[in-house]
Amino acid sequence: MSNNVLNTKELPFCKGCGHHLIAQNTAKAIEELGLNILDVIFVTDIGCHGIIDKSLNTHTVHGLHGRSVALGAGISMGLPPEKKVIVFIGDGGATIGLQHILEAARLNVNLTVVVHNNFLYGMTGGQLSGLTPKGFNTIITPNGSPYGEHDICELVYTAGANYVSRVLGIGDYSETIKNALKTPGFSLIEVMEICPSYGVKFNPKRKLQEIVEAANKPIKTWTNHRDPFVFPERKIVSNLFDKTPVIEHLNKEKILTSQIQVVLSGSAGEGVQLAANILCKAAVKHGYNITQKGTYPVTVGVGFSNAEVNISPDEILFHGLSNPEYVIVTSQDGLDFSKNTIKQMNEHQWILIDKSLPLPETKAQILSYDFRGKGAKNAVISSLFFFAKLSGIIETDTLKAILSEMGMLEKLPLTAIENELVLVTV
Ligand code: SF4
Repeated sequence: MSNNVLNTKELPFCKGCGHHLIAQNTAKAIEELGLNILDVIFVTDIGCHGIIDKSLNTHTVHGLHGRSVALGAGISMGLPPEKKVIVFIGDGGATIGLQHILEAARLNVNLTVVVHNNFLYGMTGGQLSGLTPKGFNTIITPNGSPYGEHDICELVYTAGANYVSRVLGIGDYSETIKNALKTPGFSLIEVMEICPSYGVKFNPKRKLQEIVEAANKPIKTWTNHRDPFVFPERKIVSNLFDKTPVIEHLNKEKILTSQIQVVLSGSAGEGVQLAANILCKAAVKHGYNITQKGTYPVTVGVGFSNAEVNISPDEILFHGLSNPEYVIVTSQDGLDFSKNTIKQMNEHQWILIDKSLPLPETKAQILSYDFRGKGAKNAVISSLFFFAKLSGIIETDTLKAILSEMGMLEKLPLTAIENELVLVTV
C-alpha cells in the first residue's frame, strides 16, 4: 500500500489558493518524517480547507465550525503519542473556536494545528474574521476592517504551546511543519495567505508580505519546553467483546472468514443509522468486528441517509468502504444516492431493494421485497431480517434479541416480516 498522504494531484481549491501549498507541504512533512499514514488523523473544520478530506489517504474527521481543535484534542487524548493528530482550521474557525485552541495549548495536548489564515471566511463570500488584519478589505468592510485582530501565535504561545510558528504561505515551508510534528505537546502554525477569489478581489493592489508586515505580524517561531499533556491516570476502558457474550452461529457454513461491506441506503428520518447500529450490534454478538459510518445532508431529517458497515472476523484497520457485497435500498432517496455504487457491483454481489422502486442498472443480483409495506419507519429494520436470512452472517434470532433489548421488537410487524421471509430462499 502506498504511503502517500494525498491521493490526487488535483486538489479541490480555486486556482492560486494557498490551501494547495498547505496540503502539499503538510503531506511532504509527514512523508519525509516517515510517518505511517495510518498513524495520522486529520481533523478538518468547516471552510474551504475542509474539502481536502476526500484527497487524503489518512484517517479524516470533519468537525463542526470552530470545534475541530476540541475534537482533535479529544482524539489525541485517547491515542498513544506516536499517533499524529493534525487539525486544519481556517481563520474563521479559529475565531469561533479560539477558546478550544487556547485550552489545548494550555494543557499542551499532543496536537498540531495548521491555521489557514487568509484573513476572511472564503467559503461564504469573504466576511471578516477575528484574524482579519485591521485595514484589510472584506465584503462587509469594503473600506478596511476598523477592528484590531487577534494574534493567534502570541495567544497560544502565552497559553503554553510548545511550538508556534508563523509562515508566509508561499513556497516550501514543510520544514516548519516537520518541526511542529516532531515537537511533543501542542504546536500551531499560522500560514498567512490571500484568498484569490475574495481577498485579492477586495484588495487588488496589495501583496501578502506587505499586508502581514503592516499588521505587525512577524514571521517567526516561538517555543516553550513544557511536558506534554498526559492523563493523571489513564482510564482503562474494557473491551466491548468482554461484555458481549458471543452467540454461536447456527449456520456454520455462513461464518465469515473475511471482511464484508454492507450499505444501507434510504431516507433521512426513517431509521437508517439506527438499523445500521442494530446490524452492528448483531454482528458483535456473533463475535465479529464492525465499523459504522453514516452519511446524510447537513440539514438533518431531509433527503437521503446512508450507512456503511464493515463486518469482519479480524480487526478492521480502515472504516472506508468501496466495494460492498450487499446494498440494501429502502427508498428513492437511497437509490439516487447509491446508484453509482450499484452500477459498479458485480454478479457475486447483492442488492436488496424495496419493491416500489425501479430496478437499477447493475450486474449484481437483485432481490425485491416489500420493506416499505411494513411502514416507512420500519422499512430499514425490516430489511435487516431479509439480509440476515439471505447472507446468514447474522441470525434473525439475534436481531430479535437486540430489538427486544431495545424495546423495539413489539413495535415491528413481525408476523408480516416472517410471512415474507419464507420467500427468501438461499
Ligand atoms: S474561495 Fe478562496 S479560500 Fe476558498 S478555495 Fe477559493 S481561493 Fe481558496
